[in-house]
Amino acid sequence: TAQAQEGKTYQIGTDVTFAPFEFQDAKQEFVGIDMDILAAIAKDQNFSYEVKPLGFNAALQALQTDQVDGMIAGMSITDERKQTFDFSKSYFEAGVAMAVKQGNADVKSYEDLRGKNVAVKIGTQGYTFAESIKDKYGFSLVPFEDSAQVYDDIKTGNSVAGFDDYPVLAYGIQQGNGLQLAPTEQEAKGSYGFAVNKGKNAELLQKFNAGLANIRSNGEYDKILKEYLGESG
Ligand code: GLN
Repeated sequence: TAQAQEGKTYQIGTDVTFAPFEFQDAKQEFVGIDMDILAAIAKDQNFSYEVKPLGFNAALQALQTDQVDGMIAGMSITDERKQTFDFSKSYFEAGVAMAVKQGNADVKSYEDLRGKNVAVKIGTQGYTFAESIKDKYGFSLVPFEDSAQVYDDIKTGNSVAGFDDYPVLAYGIQQGNGLQLAPTEQEAKGSYGFAVNKGKNAELLQKFNAGLANIRSNGEYDKILKEYLGESG
């Protein structure tokens, strides 16, 4: 088998709390759409891997310095990142949304953020978007490493709002995380991809793409999305 020929175990970086893409279940095992897609592709393409839940920004750094071979973390494919990383075909579409504390009816638009703190996660598209409008709307960024910390900062009231990927906010809110979506638009819509360091691990990227095509056509991909997102997926 390919696995026996190469004898290589790929190290794959991921985020820590980014449900429904990667999160720990009751048994402390990492599960989620990214984890299950990776498992299905690895099985289909017969390669071994080990997941490193480093956090999003730390995983970006680890990939850039070849401490991991690949990364799957609800990572948006952007032109800027393409200068540093090579991406697989897209496996999910998502944008950035704004959340506020449940019951907060005061923040209806970006105008309502003036003079306030807004929580963001370092290295993400949500951060980049918030940064791009913060001067126009006169708010301050409060940066965190993890989505859970962003949500806590909104709940304690230190930040009046926060930005994160729409499907992650929607999932958390549905699970009763104490937040609600602000009535603003989804921003920075784009595609999630699996990434390798630029010019490295081309064979891993090829396997990911080949496996992704196979699990899309054999129904496995749809099954995974349905498991975490229900019929809406
Ligand atoms: N999709 C966003 C990005 O790529 C957020 C990813 C994440 O927080 N895991 O920046």
